[in-house]
Amino acid sequence: KADISTISEKTLSSILEKNRTYYTQGKVADYIPELGKMDAKAIAFSVVGKNGRVLNVGDVHKKFTMQSISKIIALMIAVNEKGEANVFDKMGYFGTDKPFNHFSNLETTGKPMNPMMNAGAILTTSLISGEGEKPFLKILDLVRYITKDQTIEYNTSVYESEKSTGHRNRGMFYLMKNNGLISGNEDQLDNYFKQCSIELTAEDLAKIGYFFANECVRFDGDAQYKNVELAKLVESQMLIAGMYEFSGEYARTVGLPSKSGVGGGITVSVPGKMGIGVFSPALDQHGNSSAGYHMILDLVKQYDLSLF
Ligand code: GLN
Repeated sequence: KADISTISEKTLSSILEKNRTYYTQGKVADYIPELGKMDAKAIAFSVVGKNGRVLNVGDVHKKFTMQSISKIIALMIAVNEKGEANVFDKMGYFGTDKPFNHFSNLETTGKPMNPMMNAGAILTTSLISGEGEKPFLKILDLVRYITKDQTIEYNTSVYESEKSTGHRNRGMFYLMKNNGLISGNEDQLDNYFKQCSIELTAEDLAKIGYFFANECVRFDGDAQYKNVELAKLVESQMLIAGMYEFSGEYARTVGLPSKSGVGGGITVSVPGKMGIGVFSPALDQHGNSSAGYHMILDLVKQYDLSLF
């Protein structure tokens, strides 16, 4: 198997070209109407390795919304503020056979299954301290820190679109309020919609993957958030639920902590080594990027990157 230091833009480019047409097997998410406007043919592939080495191919400047990938950032902040025990007193560490927007286990145990599915993620964001927009701004700031890009913003059209159609998420929010897990008002749900609307590139996703792969140390070596246990917690959740009901099969084929979003991005952590970011908006039936998955799979096979 090849040495990872030999991964080049040429390597990524040939993998990208091989998998480019997988977008035809997926469909751009349109349950959030504004997302339906994305170009199904857009595709990008990035790797960030040791010493901040960045490799980018495809539509490298194309921005898209991070969607569910924001859940790992929110989890980090909530656990830093409240402590792991307090956060996981309100939700489970469970893997899942259910889609990302499923209500389980709100009607049985009363608590979300994990912080990676929508219910647990909405709850996680509500646990971040501060009035109004403050918790969202903390999430935005941490994304800007990890990517070292202060210009990152959220897409207000995507936010408005999800806010006005996200009734299922609103239903979960109120069920959790009924269950005594959430005490605040709908500003807290708006913060979740805003975090999902943060816009970035595949390279930014690779930097996020790198951060969690390397004990919460940034790609340029900045260690102000270094935290071995927090990185293990986030990576373990990514591994067991980051790809929703596909996570088990994905652990078998890719075998790396990963988090997908319905904007078409996937961020991957290769522990101790590197971060991978992919973007291609056509999604498979589980809500994961179709071409994105296949690009990751090829790189993992070629360089024997699976944990197992
Ligand atoms: N904003 C999306 C939602 O809540 C996030 C889902 C996802 O990316 N899987 O439906």
